[in-house]
Amino acid sequence: MEQIKLNSNFLSIPESYLFSEVAAKVAAYRKAYPEATIISLGIGDVTTPIAPAITEAMHKAVDEMADASTFHGYGPEQGYLFLREAIAREDYEARGVDISPEEIFISDGAKSDLGNIGDLFSAGCRVAVTDPVYPVYVDTTAMAGRAGRFSSGRWDRIEYLPATAANGFIPPLPSRQPDLIYLCYPNNPTGTVLSRDELKVWVDFARDNRCIILFDSAYEAYITTPGVPHSIYEIEGAREVAIEFRSFSKRAGFTGLRCGYTVVPEALKLMDAEGNTISLRKLWLRRQTTKFNGASYIIQRGAAAVYTPEGLRQTGEQIEAYMDNAHTLLEACRRADLEAFGGQDAPYLWVRLPDGVSSWEMFDRMLTELNIVCTPGCGFGPAGEGYVRLTAFNTPEATREAARRLLNFKI
Ligand SMILES: *Cc1c(COP(=O)(O)O)cnc(C)c1O
Repeated sequence: MEQIKLNSNFLSIPESYLFSEVAAKVAAYRKAYPEATIISLGIGDVTTPIAPAITEAMHKAVDEMADASTFHGYGPEQGYLFLREAIAREDYEARGVDISPEEIFISDGAKSDLGNIGDLFSAGCRVAVTDPVYPVYVDTTAMAGRAGRFSSGRWDRIEYLPATAANGFIPPLPSRQPDLIYLCYPNNPTGTVLSRDELKVWVDFARDNRCIILFDSAYEAYITTPGVPHSIYEIEGAREVAIEFRSFSKRAGFTGLRCGYTVVPEALKLMDAEGNTISLRKLWLRRQTTKFNGASYIIQRGAAAVYTPEGLRQTGEQIEAYMDNAHTLLEACRRADLEAFGGQDAPYLWVRLPDGVSSWEMFDRMLTELNIVCTPGCGFGPAGEGYVRLTAFNTPEATREAARRLLNFKI
């Protein structure tokens, strides 16, 4: 009998052992030392419950669903206009950026869109990523058959652009001309940002070299430094070369509710083989209307409530509390003579280890000596070795306790 032919791209992707290995080590430690109070600064998930302005809006939406006169069936695939208008006004117009509701596509989260956007591009497209990197960009590139062969921790058709302490976490421009460049700012995992001038270098590069920037700004709401761009469209000329991905996950605690959006500007046009001009916005609309039936009405009502005065205030307070945690951890690292980056405009700290100390060694020492769980930097790409990531997603009490333990740590 003939075998069913599988998509071999999936088979060539190595298993990611990072979080399962972390979980296994933590479980083994717990079993051996059941009395230990372990503090997790590992997983990148929010911990604060949904703000009241948002749950109220969702309760109301649930009641609408129970009444024939206000019931909602299938909604528009692109998302409800009430939400797209709120986004255009609050996330863009308020920052002097001209993005229309027609250019905004609501989804069930940024991860889906970051993976699905690859549908629009040919299998031969060349991809560049910064390193360390959010693994979704790399693995979905591999699933689409664009990554080449995997050996010694790298795919040979992906260009890795290292961002390390040595270059101040400003990755070099690609040397092989890519078609697609994934950028994430504020960055996960390093917690670092690009200034307006630094981001402009990338937009200019994309314009000069006919590439598309896939800009993930899932942590935009955590920016506190004045002048740091919140959207790539704050940079002149970006509308012709960039797609922006945003999420309510880290901004309003929606990791379990699921809502995000993608901006594909009308000005983003490519040429097909016959020389016809193709609007990427139209292609994405076609893709979404075919493969996606829209995010839940209830969740979109919840997301729209983020933009009410109470919603903005309540979610703003949650983000401030997380950033207070980040500052607590930064101060503890400083006092423990650990070199830490990020933590100013993102809920992550990227801790550089002394020469010769590996990510996993530090993980083991923090777990056994401090009962703190971190994430080994090597799990985010080759340039992540020699670092660990700490998150600010925890209660102030647990974070202060973790900081107290760090103070006595001598590496
Ligand atoms: C958490 C996160 C997202 C958000 O993903 P959702 O699917 O919206 O929850 C996107 N990009 C990065 C880099 C993230 O860390």
